[in-house]
Amino acid sequence: MHELCTPGDAAAKLAAAERILILTHVKPDGDAVGSALGMQKFLRDTGKQADAFFPAPLPQRYLWMAEGNAPLPSLSREQAAACDLVLVLDCASPLRIAGGDDLDWEFLQTLPLLNVDHHGGNTVEAGSNLVDSKAAAASLLAAEIAFASGRELSRGAATAWLLGLITDTGGFRFTNTDGRALRIAARLLDCGAELEKINNAVFFSKPRNQQEFEADLLQNHLKFAFDGKFVYAWLPEELFAAYHFDMRDGEGVIDLLRELEGAVIVALFYRRGDAFKVSLRSKDSRYPVGPMARALGGGGHDMAAGITLVLPDSGAVETLLCQEVGKLLDTGTPKDI
Ligand code: AMP
Ligand code: MN
Ligand code: MN
Repeated sequence: MHELCTPGDAAAKLAAAERILILTHVKPDGDAVGSALGMQKFLRDTGKQADAFFPAPLPQRYLWMAEGNAPLPSLSREQAAACDLVLVLDCASPLRIAGGDDLDWEFLQTLPLLNVDHHGGNTVEAGSNLVDSKAAAASLLAAEIAFASGRELSRGAATAWLLGLITDTGGFRFTNTDGRALRIAARLLDCGAELEKINNAVFFSKPRNQQEFEADLLQNHLKFAFDGKFVYAWLPEELFAAYHFDMRDGEGVIDLLRELEGAVIVALFYRRGDAFKVSLRSKDSRYPVGPMARALGGGGHDMAAGITLVLPDSGAVETLLCQEVGKLLDTGTPKDI
């Protein structure tokens, strides 16, 4: 277990540092990009040398957030070692920190680290840890740190953090939405966060090739088990190739399955390198997918989790998922209250 710190402690840590490196997780989602670029903007506004780093290109829909607020194009060990503090945002485990080829955990843990996250099973052992599984998003924690600092928030930082909050709560529809999330959202709006821009980028900017990819997925790739309570899809490489679509831009694709009437647990899986990446969602808190994902070596939240599975073929993934989801639907592990 970590020694936990408060948003005020985290604000003090950041205030005491001059050069700050900001890292987030691999395959960054809206919360990862928003929390990191928001913190970069906020810290730069306060006169710090603060740089976020993303080893792979950002999802297309979030590129605008980096305009006038560019992250580092590359990062060496020397550059990282020259920082006073490395802020790690939205990363559930050391293995998911996106440091690029040179910055593995063995190296990173030799640096002064501040770990800010909202995943319950967070295993990043940093010198300072602000880990709060009740927080709807890492962006919410970033905003709380900024508010605790007493410094003024710019429109850019507020917009990035509201985007992270909106993407991780599915536009305030998921069960992680609570009064705290809405109150922070209200404060971010009061700081000038651009809601129209966020919603247009996140919900109303689907490229044509993605629209066609999704139509094919729905038409030809859905599978149903347990009376339609489990809906899943295996996405073969040919499907991605046919529409020139990359799962880097696939945040939200799983919601196509979640939208289906009667679906309780939904899953998507596709090949990533030598392994299979599985995304899981639950629509009923009596059947949380987080513990199941963790038991299979993955992680995430109760209602949204993922696993990387090394298995011989997609059939083996399908068999394993059906078996585990069947057990979960049978027993229905009641969620902790
Ligand atoms: P995704 O399905 O990739 O959108 O991820 C849903 C949630 O599960 C996020 O909170 C991720 O951080 C977490 N997650 C996804 N994949 C993995 C994995 N292979 N190992 C641990 N956690 C994961
Ligand atoms: Mn994330
Ligand atoms: Mn998050």
